[in-house]
Amino acid sequence: MSPEKSLFELSRPGRRAWSLPELDVPELSLDDYLGDYLREDNSLPEVSESDLIRHFVRLSILNHHVDKGFYPLGSCTMKYNPKINEQTARLPGFTQLHPMEKETLTQGALQLMFELGEYLKEITGFDAITLQPAAGAQGELTGILMVRKFFEKKGENRTVVLVPDSAHGTNPASVTLSGFQSVQIKSTPDGLIDLNELQRACSDCVACLMVTNPNTLGLFESEIKTICEIMHRYGALVYLDGANLNAYLGIHRPGDAGFDLMHINLHKTFSTPHGGGGPGSGPVAVKKHLEPFLPSPVVKFSDGKYWLDYNRPDSIGRMLAFHGQFTILVRAYTYIRMLGANGSKEVAECAVLNANYIRKQLEGIYDLPYTRRPLHEVVFSGTNLKQFGVKTLDIAKRLLDYGIHAPTVYFPLIVPEALMIEPTETESLESIETFINAMKEIASDARTNPNNLLNAPLTTPVRRLDEARASRQLDVNFNG
Ligand SMILES: *Cc1c(COP(=O)(O)O)cnc(C)c1O
Repeated sequence: MSPEKSLFELSRPGRRAWSLPELDVPELSLDDYLGDYLREDNSLPEVSESDLIRHFVRLSILNHHVDKGFYPLGSCTMKYNPKINEQTARLPGFTQLHPMEKETLTQGALQLMFELGEYLKEITGFDAITLQPAAGAQGELTGILMVRKFFEKKGENRTVVLVPDSAHGTNPASVTLSGFQSVQIKSTPDGLIDLNELQRACSDCVACLMVTNPNTLGLFESEIKTICEIMHRYGALVYLDGANLNAYLGIHRPGDAGFDLMHINLHKTFSTPHGGGGPGSGPVAVKKHLEPFLPSPVVKFSDGKYWLDYNRPDSIGRMLAFHGQFTILVRAYTYIRMLGANGSKEVAECAVLNANYIRKQLEGIYDLPYTRRPLHEVVFSGTNLKQFGVKTLDIAKRLLDYGIHAPTVYFPLIVPEALMIEPTETESLESIETFINAMKEIASDARTNPNNLLNAPLTTPVRRLDEARASRQLDVNFNG
């Protein structure tokens, strides 16, 4: 690929991508205004409109993205984002709305929030909800702060939150930020929560267990009802990390299984583009006993009007300015309305089918450390290729040469050389086959031609980077 020049290099004196009407006010000199602040060289790039547009279109396709190719990043749920979501999120009635506008003038936006909350409660089996948190991680923090308030209110001093060793790193981080001590629970060789370990860790100091279900190995906790019962027997609560809701959408309701609260990653399950750490939305759904602690305000509906309830004396307070990531709420609402109940169920069925198809096709070619049948994602290990001097990182880098984004690697931490693959429901059989064939070729290259992997990627705009350094010393020179 030929290197992309910067706009300054493309610049030719006199070229313009704009035209303005003639000046009809006195011209002022920048010198008078900026004085010493004026840069010595204040020239800007001068390019034509077509050069400008082409420059940015070329830049936009240097990076991989979900509209360009397969993006099987496990745990992150990178699915195709329907373009109709973008249209509804851009409706001027929403985008032009000031967040401090009166309730009488924002009935449509409040209705959308209220109805989205109702749908999410119905989908998950909970009684009340906040749409405020700006990410799954902030949802966790919101949830655990509510757990803290719940026990404070009861006059109980509980200090510990249990977290399985397969959990996402945000779980123990949210626990610590909320002032609790996080204690790790080991998994069984099957990859599930070890009930004996759990019993041993339980005491009246334990406030909560945080569970990801299906867990980050894609495995459904088959004893989830028993797990909830054990925790409740100790007076503790059970939190569900709902990042994997797309695996059981319309099929299983965590509220019915005994969970007390959960967060939902709207940007994952309900389709919002989210690369590089944002944007996100992490509503938290709770059972009745936690409702008083929800962040303020909560959207209510009565006497034919939607309104914001600020009169919440036991609320943990605000978690975010205004009303959360509103346009992500619009996208999630659109997605749910477009799919309906049957379509939502199909999301889960196809996500699980796709993941298991990949598992079956790559079984024996890559190690499968856990043999139970997963739901929406599958975790392989590259350990079997280590004998050829090849690591999981090399496999990931080589996939880039096939125009495929690398899966999540080295997570979950309990799997050595982990390759965590989540195809999602939006990929066709053909794109999944392309991925499977690439993975097969890479495994065979590892044996016969390992240099192809060790030097990969060979065809991307930049070659292999020192990843730790690259994030600290940005090189924005595209000619390098
Ligand atoms: C993505 C994810 C999180 C964190 O959610 P963000 O929205 O990225 O903050 C937490 N737990 C699991 C299992 C996840 O996959």
